[in-house]
Amino acid sequence: MTPTQITGIECTITRPDRHNLVVVKVTTDKGITGYGCATFQQRPLAVKTLVDEYLQPLLIGRDANAIEDLWQMMNVNAYWRNGPVMNNAIAGIDMALWDIKGQLAGMPLYQLFGGQSRDAIAVYSHTSAESLDALYPQIDALLDKGWRHIRCQLGFYGGTPQDMHTTRAPTPGAYYSQEEYMANTVAMFKALREKYGQRFHILHDVHERLFPQQAIQLAKELEPYQPYFIEDLLAPQQSGWLEQVRHQTSVPLAMGELFNNPAEWHDLIVHRRIDFIRCHVSQIGGITPALKLAVLCQAFGVRLAWHGPPDMTPIAVAVNTHLNIHLHNAAIQEFIPPEANTLAVFPQAPQAQAGYLYPLQTPGIGVTMDETAAACFPVVYRPHEWTQARLPDGAIHTP
Ligand code: MG
Repeated sequence: MTPTQITGIECTITRPDRHNLVVVKVTTDKGITGYGCATFQQRPLAVKTLVDEYLQPLLIGRDANAIEDLWQMMNVNAYWRNGPVMNNAIAGIDMALWDIKGQLAGMPLYQLFGGQSRDAIAVYSHTSAESLDALYPQIDALLDKGWRHIRCQLGFYGGTPQDMHTTRAPTPGAYYSQEEYMANTVAMFKALREKYGQRFHILHDVHERLFPQQAIQLAKELEPYQPYFIEDLLAPQQSGWLEQVRHQTSVPLAMGELFNNPAEWHDLIVHRRIDFIRCHVSQIGGITPALKLAVLCQAFGVRLAWHGPPDMTPIAVAVNTHLNIHLHNAAIQEFIPPEANTLAVFPQAPQAQAGYLYPLQTPGIGVTMDETAAACFPVVYRPHEWTQARLPDGAIHTP
């Protein structure tokens, strides 16, 4: 195979709707252009600096065909490895290189990976409201459109406290009460099963907001309502508690969106402490490491539920879909429908149909960026109030 020389690498930040999106474009001497998602919406400029100032000079002139070698080189080139800035920057280039390879082969990515193991991937979306009466219409709307997996939250992560005993002059922050959240969430599951029976699968995200003993208690209390999975029951640094969770409940556990480093997931997989891995593909370094993670999971019966929040580009949604169509242990995909301006910037954005995502059939990833449209939506920096989560006594807690 003749070399495909990398002639240009550009990193663009655009904010078409609510989130800063980071896109990497790689151009080649064969006239083929690849796009990748490097979105770290809270720190986009850090990713752009890494791509523009460090990775671009490293890669210009090299052979785009050698994805594995280039990924390994990017991973060790700074000596210190991993972390969300580094991994997202590498992922943007890695996805663009896979996009180029797919176009060179004339195949959509899932075909390049080895072909399909399913026709489409089931998707779930989010519902969240302050009360059950406000939650039901959101659920009904998704059921009417054919969705059969729905994430249900009563209030934002940790709930919306009604009666919280704070201090005299609370430090500013996004407050929540763990006890109130636990009670309301159990009541929500009970009410949903009474109203809807088994009409849909209920998913729920604890968002690592409980102390370990509270987490075990909540998992046991939710088990009778048969959740599809409970996500981030514990923070990554407390995953040693999962063994105790497993001994006390069979509730399905999902974890991984915060992981950066293979050391964080290895033991959870080989000791079968989780049922679903939830890694964010750009956060772990792109398609190249995601394929390896998926194969490891398959050997131990762990299924895939890639993270799919609104703060990633439709390029990443298409990448996840290609992975899900090919990988036999893919279970479900989180999916938030793109808003109008995002569609203007990414015209080929994948759209769910009756609760399923189907793969794009164009060679490569299949989603490009309209640079003129992207330039209309400049980056916006803000301090991110919701990540300043606090407990009633004013102590900051994982968001
Ligand atoms: Mg989550």
